[in-house]
Order: sequence, then structure tokens, then C-alpha cells
Amino acid sequence: MDKLTFLGTGDSMAVPRVYCRCNVCEEARTSGINRRLRSSVLVESHHEHFMIDCGPSWREQMEQQQRTDLDHLLITHAHYDHIGGLPEYADLCRWLRKKGNVYASPEVIEQLRTIYPWLENNVSYHPVDGHLNQWGWSITCWKVSHGHNGFSYAYRFDKPDFAWAYCPDSINLSAKEKRPLYELDLLILGTSFYKEEAPFHSRSLYDIVEALELLNEIRPAYTCFTHLSHGIDWREDYGLPPNCRLAKEGLSLLLAK
Ligand SMILES: [Zn+2]
Ligand SMILES: [Zn+2]
Repeated sequence: MDKLTFLGTGDSMAVPRVYCRCNVCEEARTSGINRRLRSSVLVESHHEHFMIDCGPSWREQMEQQQRTDLDHLLITHAHYDHIGGLPEYADLCRWLRKKGNVYASPEVIEQLRTIYPWLENNVSYHPVDGHLNQWGWSITCWKVSHGHNGFSYAYRFDKPDFAWAYCPDSINLSAKEKRPLYELDLLILGTSFYKEEAPFHSRSLYDIVEALELLNEIRPAYTCFTHLSHGIDWREDYGLPPNCRLAKEGLSLLLAK
């Protein structure tokens, strides 16, 4: 049975932020319930496993999982918090003497080639142009608005009895961008803050207030919010509906009904 584990649930700067003395960052330094690495998930079945995104926390995430191999990586977009660990991944592949497999949209692969021109010594790219059948899933990859930060891609995974989607970096989705988010058993959605006060044009992710409106529209059976900044306090009760929660590192969910 397929299982998903949250390896990281933090925003691009993670929690605590090095300079910050807010309640959440201070708590993250001590008892640590708010401590968050960069957002990433691991999906495992009996035979295979893959990760989505490979940020600068990737090395620590692998150590925590006590993993020394990883054959497959899906990438949502080429921002540092989602790809900063790729040189270390390539080094693992070099050490294991086998090429790693990185899946992303053709557009993102071109960006990766520019950012890390040497990566293909140890890694093979697999362009995902809309659809991919892999690991028993029918996978859809589509471009989503990332607001001020440009674009990202989201992934939807379908099996006959279960559908889920991973959309860590998005805001203000158009009707077309929302379409693959209907009829989901599980949605993992990025929400950096509860209510973000910055001007809308300067923002790049949904906040929780806006996300709850989106959920009312697309109605997934269950939702986990990830990509959480120091603006979200795990000790706080945000009055979320019962089929909706904040993701937590180490939390595992079965991808089945
Ligand atoms: Zn991000
Ligand atoms: Zn981003």
C-alpha cells in the first residue's frame, strides 16, 4: 500500500529563521514543535519510493529517514527551497555509481540545466509533458500561478481508488489551473501564513484564509497545509474544519481509502 510521509513542511526560509526572535522561531529552537525543514514528501510502495522536491534540507531529511538511496525525484519548480539539495543528490548518485532520475516539466528541466550544468553527469532528466505513468500512478503535471514568484508546477496522482495532489507553491489559481484539483481524496496545499498582510501583488502563496475558500470550491475529502512559515504556530487553534489540518514533519498518510 502506498504511504506518504512529510519530510519537510516549512516555507522557503524554514523555521526558525536565523535572525528571528518571534514566538514561533523561539519555540522552534527549544521544544521544537514548530521546527520545519523545506517542504518535501516521500512516497513509498512495496517496491519503490520517490520524493517530491529536493530543497536545501534534503541531506538532513535523508539522514532522518536513514536512507542511503533514492532513485526517483519529482521537482515542482526551480526555486532554491525546492532544488537546493540537487547537487548533494547528484553526489549520492555518483557514490552509488548509478544515475538518478529527475522528473519535471520540460521548462523546469531547462532551468535546472542552466543552474546546475554538471548535474547530468550523475542524473538523467525525464521531461513530464502533462502526463506520466509511473510507480502505479497516473500522474498529471500542470503549471500553476506562483504569484509574484512566477510559476510552479503541481502534480496529481490517480489510481482507480485514490486520487491526491501536491501543490506547495501557488496562489490565485485560474479556473483552468484549479481543474485538476477537483475530486481529490487528499490535497497537499502550500499556505505560508494564516492571513498574510503584504499587498496581494507582492505575494506568492495562498494563506490559510484564502485556502479555506478554495477548499469550499474544490472540496477535497481531506487537506493538509504545508510550506508553513514562522507565521504559523502549531500550538495555535486556527479552527480548521475536521477534514483539514496542518502537515507535520514525520506524519505519514496512507494513500488509500
Ligand atoms: Zn517554495
Ligand atoms: Zn517557489
